[in-house]
Amino acid sequence: MLDFSWTEEQNAFRQILRDFAKSDLLPHYTKWDREQKFPYEIWSKMGGLGLTGLRVQEKYNGSSANCVTTGIAALEVGKGDFNAAYAVMLNGLISEILEEHASEEIKEEWLKRMALGECLLGIAITEPGAGSDAANLQTKAVKDGNSYLLTGEKSGISLAKFAHGFVVFAKTNPEERARGVSAFIVPSDVEGIEIQSYADMGNIPIGRGSVFLNEVRIPESYLIGEENKGFYQVMKGFDLSRILIALQCIGAAEQSIDETIGHVRTREAFGSPLAKFQGVQFPIVEHHTWLEMAKWLCFRALWLRDQGLPHTKEASMCKWMGPYLAREAIHECLLLNGHYGYTKEMAIEQRLRDVIGLEIGDGTAQTQKIVIAREIIGKEFKPY
Ligand SMILES: Cc1cc2nc3c(=O)[nH]c(=O)nc-3n(C[C@H](O)[C@H](O)[C@H](O)COP(=O)(O)OP(=O)(O)OC[C@H]3O[C@@H](n4cnc5c(N)ncnc54)[C@H](O)[C@@H]3O)c2cc1C
Repeated sequence: MLDFSWTEEQNAFRQILRDFAKSDLLPHYTKWDREQKFPYEIWSKMGGLGLTGLRVQEKYNGSSANCVTTGIAALEVGKGDFNAAYAVMLNGLISEILEEHASEEIKEEWLKRMALGECLLGIAITEPGAGSDAANLQTKAVKDGNSYLLTGEKSGISLAKFAHGFVVFAKTNPEERARGVSAFIVPSDVEGIEIQSYADMGNIPIGRGSVFLNEVRIPESYLIGEENKGFYQVMKGFDLSRILIALQCIGAAEQSIDETIGHVRTREAFGSPLAKFQGVQFPIVEHHTWLEMAKWLCFRALWLRDQGLPHTKEASMCKWMGPYLAREAIHECLLLNGHYGYTKEMAIEQRLRDVIGLEIGDGTAQTQKIVIAREIIGKEFKPY
C-alpha cells in the first residue's frame, strides 16, 4: 500500500501551526533579525504548543510525536520564522541523543526542561580544525576523580550566545579518531567557559559563536552514553536533523513563493498584472514543482525513519537538495519583487541569508554527497 495522506491529528496539528505561524511568527520574523535578539518569549510559547519536545517521551514532558509529525512542524514553523524552526530541528536532534543515551539524572535535569522550552541546549561538535572532517576534533576530556576536565575550542555553534548548556563532543581517547569521541552535557555558566559571538550574515537570532573550554570541570554523570561512543550516537541523530533542516528551508521558500504570487497578481507592468506574463509564471511554477518534489523526498525519509528502515542516504539527499532548492526559489522570488524585494522592508532578503546558513550547518552539500556516494558507488571509493 502507498498512502500519502496525513492522519486526522496531523491535519489538525498542521492547521494549529499555520495559524500560529501567521499570528505569532511571521509578523515578528524580521524584528528579531534587526534587533539581534533571541526571542525567549516565542521559544517558550512554542514550548506551550509542544514544539520543543516533539521527539521527547511524555514522561519527560514531551509529546512522543513521530518523525513525520516533527517534519510537519519544521515545515510550518519555517514558513512563519526560519529561526524559530531551529527549536524543532535542534531540539529534535538533541532530544533523541539524550533520550537514547543519557542517564536518568541528565534527563530529569536537562531533557525535561528542554522539552518545555524552558532550557536551551546547543550542540558543539565543530572546531576551528574540524568541520566537515568532524572526527578530527581536538577538544579533550580527561578523567579526574569523579569529574571530567574539558579543554578545547568549539566554533560555529548555534545558540552559543543564549544556550543554558551544550552537548559537547570531546576526545576521551586522543589516539583514535571517531572511536575516541565521547559526548557530555556542559552547562554554559560553569567556570572555565567563555563565549564569543559572531557577526553572522543570517540566522541572527540564533546567536552563533565559539565556545572556549578551559579545564571545565563537570561531574562524571554528565557523560552521555558510553565513553568513546559519542560520535556514532550523534550520527544517528543527524539523519533526523538533516531532513528537518531541508523542511525548514522549504517552508521559508514556500512562504516566499506565496508572497510573490500575491505581488505578481497585483503589480502591473506594460498594462497587465505581472502574473499574466509567462516569463513570470514559469519560474514560479518551476520552483513550486521542485519544492514539492523535495518536500515529498523529506516526508518519505521521515517515514522510513519512523518504520526503523535505513534512511541515511535519503537524509543526505534531503540535506543537500532542500536548502539548495529553497535558496534558488527565494532568490527568484526576490527578483520577481523587483527593487522592493532587495530592501529590508520585505522578509525575502532575510530568508535568503537565513537559508544559506543551513546550506553549511549540519554538513555542506559536498559532505552529504560523500555519504550518498559511499552507499550508491561503494565504500571502497570513499575519498578519505
Ligand atoms: C548557520 C550554521 C549553524 C551551525 N551550527 C552548528 C552547531 O550548532 N554545532 C556545530 O557543531 N557546528 C555548527 N555549525 C558548523 C558546521 O557544521 C560546519 O561549518 C560545517 O560542518 C562545515 O565545516 P567547516 O565550516 O569547517 O568547513 P570545511 O570543512 O573547512 O569545508 C570548507 C569547504 O570545503 C568543502 N569540503 C570539505 N571536505 C571536502 C571533501 N572531502 N570533498 C569536497 N569538498 C569538501 C566543504 O563542503 C566546504 O564547502 C554551523 C554552521 C552554520 C553556518
